[in-house]
Amino acid sequence: MKINRGREKSLHSERRSETFTGTVWADRVLSDPKGAVGIGSVFFEPKARTYWHRHSGGQVLVVTHGQGRVRSGDGNGGVIAAGDVVHIAPGEEHWHGAEPDNYLLHLAISLGQTEWLRAVTDEEYRQGFE
Ligand code: MN
Repeated sequence: MKINRGREKSLHSERRSETFTGTVWADRVLSDPKGAVGIGSVFFEPKARTYWHRHSGGQVLVVTHGQGRVRSGDGNGGVIAAGDVVHIAPGEEHWHGAEPDNYLLHLAISLGQTEWLRAVTDEEYRQGFE
């Protein structure tokens, strides 16, 4: 057996709570000191999700494991699963999170600043999915 070490020992997963509902953990993959781009690996327990928010330069989500949901303010979106890649336009109001019976792990590539709005209600979480 051989283990290729890709993770610094000093790196700790960060519990995200202020702008998330449920248990969410994030690992920083890259953070640009100028704030132009942030890359994170984000783990959502079942039912966990972000608040409504926008990215000034847009965002790409690469779903690596599990199954989740994404929804924009105009009602677009749907169920997402491993292998899916979601492109979110600059300024597009949206949320993302796990399905009720599945965890979700995605890589989030965020461009520009993130503006957090408000929590996604249980009704909004269910709307169009159940
Ligand atoms: Mn987002």
